[in-house]
Amino acid sequence: MDIETTYYDPRVGAAIAELFQPNTRAVFLESPGSGTFEIQDVPAIAAVAHQRDICVLMDNSWATPLFLKPLELGVDISIMAATKYIGGHSDVMLGTIACGPRAWEQVRDMHFQLGQFVGPDDVTLVLRGFRTLDVRLQRHQESALTMALWLEQRPDVSHVFYPPLPSHPDHALWRRDFRGASGLLSFVTRNSSSEAVAAMIDGLKLFTIGYSWGGFESLVLPVSPRSMRTATQWTETGHLIWLHIGLEDVDDLIADLEEGFSRFRDISGH
Ligand SMILES: *Cc1c(COP(=O)(O)O)cnc(C)c1O
Repeated sequence: MDIETTYYDPRVGAAIAELFQPNTRAVFLESPGSGTFEIQDVPAIAAVAHQRDICVLMDNSWATPLFLKPLELGVDISIMAATKYIGGHSDVMLGTIACGPRAWEQVRDMHFQLGQFVGPDDVTLVLRGFRTLDVRLQRHQESALTMALWLEQRPDVSHVFYPPLPSHPDHALWRRDFRGASGLLSFVTRNSSSEAVAAMIDGLKLFTIGYSWGGFESLVLPVSPRSMRTATQWTETGHLIWLHIGLEDVDDLIADLEEGFSRFRDISGH
């Protein structure tokens, strides 16, 4: 469709204005960033974008509207995978878009012209998920924080990426804009072999390997940001492991990972 893309450092803030090209029409952002959880200064980005009449789109799947309201921060189109927390049971695929006045008419026209409608069964599942969204998210948040604090104390972990942690580089921004945090976080293992990571992950009993987080169950996934990065460099030498903390008992989850780390140590030797 002849669209050009410029990728940017998620911590760029208002300096994103220096990257705007004469043909820039939209800024598309996600906060926190997938896998590495950088928080963006959304109001600063929206302010400079609007000076140039550039539309701001944001993926709000991580926080959901309970923990962040993008339109209040100046975003024009808020996009969410309702597949994740809104459905909440990993049995439906659906997306939502919410628009401010700058984008509404165009989005509505496009929606009609493309004939984008969703199935009634899917809608029923998502509406049912909505009923428990608040209590589920409270539990995801509580367990994820417990897990993040536990991981941070471990000698075999070099970093934990979860914005509610005071050690997170964007913690202050998260406190300013967000009302809570969901169950998705990541950590970096101390330098070790892929075999050690495989032994840890393959033997887990409660965490299964999976990509589509936001459901009731816990998931684990090794990810490699190095090959995906262009605007910034990934300099960590360990392995990045993505965790979705589900609704299971958090002590059981910790015990499962504890055994995983002992398999990890048996192979890595530290
Ligand atoms: C999974 C995901 C999507 C896509 O959602 P689907 O409904 O599974 O297509 C979009 N944004 C983010 C941040 C996601 O993690």
